[in-house]
Amino acid sequence: MLEEFLGKKEIHALLSKDFVEVMISEDKMPGGKETSNALRKGIRGGVPWFVFLNPEEAVLKEIDGTWKRRKASVLATADGPDGNVGCPMIPVERNHFLECLRTARIQLTDAEIDRIGLILHKFAIETIGEEAGPLPDLIAEVISSADLLIQFQADKEALGRLWSMPLSFRKAEVMRSFHQKWLALVKSAKNSAVDRAEAIDLALLENHLRHQMKEAQHSLKKDREILPLMEFSNPLVKLCEDHALRQELDSRLAAETLNSALENLTKNKEEEREITPVLARRLAARLNSLRSSLGTWYRFRAEYDPLFTWWCKKPWDALSEALTDYAKFVQKDWGGIDLEDKDLLIGDPIGRQALIDGLEHEMVPYTPEELISIAEREFDWCEKEMQRAMVDLQCDSWKDALNLVKKRHVEPGEQPKMIRELADEAVNFLEERNLLTIPALAKDVWRMGMMSPARQKVSPYFTGGEVISISYPTAGMDHEDKIMSMRGNNRHFSRATVHHELIPGHHLQGYMAKRWNTQRRQFYTPFLVEGWALYWELKLWDLDFQQSAEDRVGMLFWRSHRCARILFSLNFHLGNWSPQECVDFLVKRVGHERNNAEAEIRRSIQGGYGPLYQAAYMLGGLQLRALHKEMVLNGTMSEREFHDAVLKQNSIPVAAIRAALGGSEVDDKMGLWRFDG
Ligand SMILES: [Zn+2]
Repeated sequence: MLEEFLGKKEIHALLSKDFVEVMISEDKMPGGKETSNALRKGIRGGVPWFVFLNPEEAVLKEIDGTWKRRKASVLATADGPDGNVGCPMIPVERNHFLECLRTARIQLTDAEIDRIGLILHKFAIETIGEEAGPLPDLIAEVISSADLLIQFQADKEALGRLWSMPLSFRKAEVMRSFHQKWLALVKSAKNSAVDRAEAIDLALLENHLRHQMKEAQHSLKKDREILPLMEFSNPLVKLCEDHALRQELDSRLAAETLNSALENLTKNKEEEREITPVLARRLAARLNSLRSSLGTWYRFRAEYDPLFTWWCKKPWDALSEALTDYAKFVQKDWGGIDLEDKDLLIGDPIGRQALIDGLEHEMVPYTPEELISIAEREFDWCEKEMQRAMVDLQCDSWKDALNLVKKRHVEPGEQPKMIRELADEAVNFLEERNLLTIPALAKDVWRMGMMSPARQKVSPYFTGGEVISISYPTAGMDHEDKIMSMRGNNRHFSRATVHHELIPGHHLQGYMAKRWNTQRRQFYTPFLVEGWALYWELKLWDLDFQQSAEDRVGMLFWRSHRCARILFSLNFHLGNWSPQECVDFLVKRVGHERNNAEAEIRRSIQGGYGPLYQAAYMLGGLQLRALHKEMVLNGTMSEREFHDAVLKQNSIPVAAIRAALGGSEVDDKMGLWRFDG
């Protein structure tokens, strides 16, 4: 049993800092019995028995033909106050073992010995059960960081499901103390991180917690801006909160609450107000989600509880309808929004401070303005290259060059074959150059699907991962849409990004992320996910993946698009550009078809993407390029080692990957890496 404990990977790693383990078998080794007798001073007390010896002293001496142990050589033994502790299991035995470690150690720290004690305690519980004594409260101290992260995620998700209603200050309070509790846990766990990987896990969790707490502040601020316009909602939110806490309900009081909310709502509508369309949209969104939460609350009892139904059916039906109307009313009458206009673009810019907080969370120590100037510099590079390609193609303008390339599309029905060829081509290119390891199964398991016409409206280009969704026209599409789809998905544009979606991009990434450091998946960041795919776009250009001027145009179209994404998304969230200005910019500077540009902006500002998502492609790519320079060009890693190592870290900020690869310490400064220049 002692052997099993000492054989644990983590225990072995810790003990090897100070000790060399030697096992003596009394029966199987010649002289084993004599040596054992000498070391134990002839006292028999069962096996196993252990002794910590001083390496600088001779261990035994011979007196009158018998071997005796020398006092100076013995640092500590298994003989505790009640005799041999053997394999230390119950508290008094474990304490003695730890005391021995403290006496005999050279480098082991107190925290490391505590850690050994906690692992031993856990082992004892597994082995002898209750007799081992209860675990300390802070479970964080006895489990690996990976388990800790998994527990955090499960706790967070459970609370999220319980507290699913909007506008709840009680929920905000619950989450605040939840985050604080975990922050304290992480801090205590940090002292016992056994290696770099654990330290990174914990640093990531701490980073996440701090960001969640800031996010909560930003979202509370946004809620406070609209609450005066829907004060009637407070008692309704309370109904949902009480339901979450499984409290009893007085049906008559509930009916009165619904009824008076309806009265107050109706009164609100009499006021004339003017609010911004942005505020009106936000208000409508909260109203709709409140209605949906209340619907859940109502359906829990309706029909099952006769009295509840008798009291509440009528007022609920009326209120539900009024909430729907009110959401339309505030947009139309107060916000001046034309609800019939399906093309209208309205987003909710998060503002400069929230952007800076978001960047800090991504460990990108630059201001939005600095990032904009980086994007402009990269954009200039693309434009210069585009000029060269234009000349090579004998075109008069870059738009002519784009047009020429857009005509190089395959016939309807032939797109899947082309995608398959391009995917194979990229894999061969990477393998011939030994750039990274591509598991055979990863090459086998990706699939192809066709994107529905409805989805093509918001996602005009193919998307990837394990399934590549091919965007190409169907028979039922309008003629113009058919042409636009074929032009946008031409061979050269596709060649530039099939590898982004499949291998080495999103498919391979996802494949590895499901198999390595999976506890970190909850920290998903586009700076790594899109940054990695983009890094390969940059790298393949440097490796001359392009075979023709048409290929260059395809690659440059996408590359300048990534620069444009930084420019429009940051300028939008800073409040510098309206959504319409963003669309115009994409059409004018990148050469998008107008429909595609609108779909792009709609997705970016209304489609549930994080505010930094669009900026993350090029910036993450530049971060990885800088890290490659540090680790491979100026370092000791091979191309393949570097790329394999990055993929095994899962989706975490690039600065944390740098720390994982030894490029920096795992500490507060880790996120201050100025990767550009
Ligand atoms: Zn992507």
